[in-house]
Amino acid sequence: MENLKLLQLEKLQATLNRVYKEVPFYRHLFDSVSFNPEDFSDLEDLKKIPFTTREDLSKNYPYNMFAVPLREVVRILATSGTTGNPLVVGYTRNDLSILTDLSATALRNMEVTKDDVVQITFHPGLFSSAFGIQSGAEIIGASVIPVHFEDPYKQLKILQDYRTTVLVCTPSYAIWLCETLPQAKINPNSLFLKKIILCGEPFTETQRSIISDTFKVEVYNLYSIMEVFGPGIAFECKEKKGLHFMENHFLVEVIDPESLLPVKPGETGELVITTLTKEAFPLIRYRTGDLVIYKYENCPCGFPYPILTSSILGRRDDVVIIRGLKFYPSQIDEILASWAGEPLKFQIVLEKKEGLDEVFLFLVPSEKFFSDSFIEQEKIKKQLEERLYLHLNIPVKIKFVEEGSLEKRNNKLLQIVDKR
Ligand SMILES: [Zn+2]
Repeated sequence: MENLKLLQLEKLQATLNRVYKEVPFYRHLFDSVSFNPEDFSDLEDLKKIPFTTREDLSKNYPYNMFAVPLREVVRILATSGTTGNPLVVGYTRNDLSILTDLSATALRNMEVTKDDVVQITFHPGLFSSAFGIQSGAEIIGASVIPVHFEDPYKQLKILQDYRTTVLVCTPSYAIWLCETLPQAKINPNSLFLKKIILCGEPFTETQRSIISDTFKVEVYNLYSIMEVFGPGIAFECKEKKGLHFMENHFLVEVIDPESLLPVKPGETGELVITTLTKEAFPLIRYRTGDLVIYKYENCPCGFPYPILTSSILGRRDDVVIIRGLKFYPSQIDEILASWAGEPLKFQIVLEKKEGLDEVFLFLVPSEKFFSDSFIEQEKIKKQLEERLYLHLNIPVKIKFVEEGSLEKRNNKLLQIVDKR
């Protein structure tokens, strides 16, 4: 492990010197805490540098975070930001080749081989994932089918006719395919599919088992965050013990989002990433906003780097604080789904009554749990409320509603409506 530390130190020294020279944002940031990259000699010294946030990236729109002249940038991507400006990231030729290599390493560790037929389906906006995975799979020698349209029937037809063995998509899209399967009259046993790789969004273990049970395949997690790099930052191996990080290219910290201090193994915190090899768009101590449980242990698969985290539990910004207690909407999703055996549609509504915060859960009951009898419905509601209280320590009042009555924005269901 000493070798890894030395390698990280060497690459970090070079990165810090480069961003100090080339990126005014980092020059000001380092100067503000009297940090001189020339004196950097220990990985611990990194903690002297303040964090970089999404907001910093938005403020430096479009090219001010680039550490190379534009003529060396061969690809530019944008994603939505926090201040109205999109986040714009760039890749040099070398960055793209590292992206391909990392993506290929992740896929190999998921046991994707040259014999596989890989169908990649992504909504527009996840292009860094799409091209990274495509080039990674091609390096391995797999046959790649990029399919950019949304229609689940067409995707399923390709899945069947082209004998796809590996499907790459977002978790929500995979659920949509599961729901479409019966209408498309496709028997999952007749497919050649062996694994599904989920990328682009966090997902719960219940969602994973629904997808896995429906298609009768292994489901893997590939972590991708565009502003940091794309796919290949971290992945899940066949052991499924958590996310493996590519520590030869990224320095990983997990911090308490409030105290900003590192958390201990087994604790939940926010993922912070420093890039070690990126040329066009290096990031120093970037707060991803993604929450994970930190682990530090070797995996039986033999992958050489020991930082493992749980899958992404949710976003830091999604935290709901009620009477001083915290919870994440993903926890409610998990509790409901494990109770119902399938993900349920819901909306959390926060209200203030006589100075006290109250939590309402507007729940669309699935057919299976819908009862004509009022008494039966009340019984189900009570059971669920008790279960939620047991897990969250917060009283949650449930109201059964029809899907159409839930508040939407831009046609997307809002997870939380805060009326306090
Ligand atoms: Zn492993």
